[in-house]
Amino acid sequence: MIDMKSLLEYQEIDAEFTEFDKKLKNTETRRQMNQRKRVYKAAHDRLSQLEQSGRVKGDRISDLEKQYASLTEDMEDLEKDISYYSECSDEELDADEIKQMVVDAERIYESIVSVKKSISQLKAEFSEDAKNMKALLLKLKTSRAEFEELKVQYEKEVALGDEDVKSFEKRLKDAEKKLPAEIVSEYKRIKTLKPNPVALFKDSRCSGCNMQLPSNTAASISASDKPYFCENCGRILVLPQE
Ligand SMILES: [Zn+2]
Repeated sequence: MIDMKSLLEYQEIDAEFTEFDKKLKNTETRRQMNQRKRVYKAAHDRLSQLEQSGRVKGDRISDLEKQYASLTEDMEDLEKDISYYSECSDEELDADEIKQMVVDAERIYESIVSVKKSISQLKAEFSEDAKNMKALLLKLKTSRAEFEELKVQYEKEVALGDEDVKSFEKRLKDAEKKLPAEIVSEYKRIKTLKPNPVALFKDSRCSGCNMQLPSNTAASISASDKPYFCENCGRILVLPQE
């Protein structure tokens, strides 16, 4: 038969230890560390985004600059044609060709204006991004430095609990020694799934999940030399101790 008293004691110490550990570790300093971590991550993500879009913008600018150069060349060719025509006598002029030249000149001019506008827009964005990236780099540096500083402080805070932690560990180990290894390993397995792996069978219910269980459960628990699990929540059931 299972030593239910020792099992309950073990869980009590474990719960006390867990609570102590939680209080020891969930400090304001830790909250601040997490906050710096979030700031760092957000800045890092934004920076990666800007780097990527910066590469795309850089490529786009060099494409547009090539377009601009080729349009300027077209315009120069057209200007040469126009100056050639201006030297022609009236009889040699062809009205349709002149009309076409005017249309071409307008089209090229409009393209040049539009490409130039796009380039300067992109360059403005590019320099705005560069400014933002500089600020983000600073934020990365600051949040990291602050995090490291808080970490040192946090480690000191946690170290203050060292003695108590050791004493809890010893109590837990001693309590563990009183139990069969099989029970301890079941206990630890259930604990990864839910808190307080050991529950009382009381008033026909499991104290862990509050489910009503068959009336012969108490007898089955008493008779079993293996852990008896609640059929609903899977906790180890024990009977209330005197
Ligand atoms: Zn249960």
